[in-house]
Amino acid sequence: MKPLKYQTQDGKSVIMDMERHDFQLDDLVERIKDNDHRLVALQVPEGLKMQALEMMDSIEGDSEAKVVLAADPCYGACDLVHDKMRMMGVELVAHMGHSAMNIDSGMPTHFIPVTYDGDPEIDPVIPILARHKAIAEARLAEASTPFDLSEDEAKDRFLDAVGRVAPLSGTKLGLVGSIQHLHLLEEYKERFENAGFQVEIPTGGARLTFPGQVLGCNYSGDDPSIGHYIFLGSGDFHPIGLVMHTGKPLALLDPYTGEASELSFDRIERILRQRMGLIFSVDEAKSFGILIGEKPGQMRRNLAIRMKRLLEKHGRKGYLLALDHVGPELIDFYPVDAFVNTACPRIAIDDAVKYAKPLITPFELEVALGEKQWENGYQFDEIP
Ligand code: SF4
Repeated sequence: MKPLKYQTQDGKSVIMDMERHDFQLDDLVERIKDNDHRLVALQVPEGLKMQALEMMDSIEGDSEAKVVLAADPCYGACDLVHDKMRMMGVELVAHMGHSAMNIDSGMPTHFIPVTYDGDPEIDPVIPILARHKAIAEARLAEASTPFDLSEDEAKDRFLDAVGRVAPLSGTKLGLVGSIQHLHLLEEYKERFENAGFQVEIPTGGARLTFPGQVLGCNYSGDDPSIGHYIFLGSGDFHPIGLVMHTGKPLALLDPYTGEASELSFDRIERILRQRMGLIFSVDEAKSFGILIGEKPGQMRRNLAIRMKRLLEKHGRKGYLLALDHVGPELIDFYPVDAFVNTACPRIAIDDAVKYAKPLITPFELEVALGEKQWENGYQFDEIP
């Protein structure tokens, strides 16, 4: 396969050497043959859509099945194609590049792992990690005193990613990565240990399949013994969420390019400033659209209904709006003052500027209504 240039979710151009990727189709073909499936749906992430037709040829060439590409955008395993494919007579969904979540789409689904054999040197990232370890040690040394802050001090703290640090009991290096690089983690653990770091590969909750895995909406592997992070992967989509969630310093090592970098706290502070502005901007809002995601792994109906009740308690109006895809063209025209998003958490965080009206998270609504306090720091909207 030819090298592929594509844009990551944060808009960076990445060139992927497709020969170094392993698309593990053999188990899928075996399953199709064993079950004599005749119609299979293939779902691939956006970054691999260019390769989809070649994969369809390969599956059809090795089995009796016909393959239909689920060509709508797909950004995660939260977005499994479901009943529409059953209506089409599809017997099996083959989902590529993500791993199983704690959801049932109602369709038999085969997850196809994709791995990349990148092998970046660790030397360029060591000075960054050494600095981050020193930050973690200094934080651990500070006595964690209970907050007794004025409203203004509390708001300052809210903007301060450092102030938001989850409780610390150690300064270990947390080693995480995006899914196509997770097979490298054990080897890199050893390399970083040899370089003098105490390393942990964190294991998260039911939404995550593998040790060291992170999603844009779930960082449940974080634990107090971890003082800073290294992320093996490309782009800063996952790192932004991890730092917003934990407040811990994070270095990046990109297996595609070998580049080492870090996610600056300034960047996180800018995002938190924007979030704070949005919270202030809904102060006088009387009516809200409450977005419910229809995708199986994004649907948070109970949370949406709780937000509606909360708005009613505070004399405001909330309208429940269910959508498969969320975009400005689909909601901006509703005559409400603002929106609360319970679909993919990253829609509010990463895309807020695209919307004409404030688009906030459930936590931010709770802060705006005075139900949650500034001084407890920013709470990332996580789907468990
Ligand atoms: S809900 Fe959003 S962040 Fe989470 S897996 Fe789906 S697309 Fe990614």
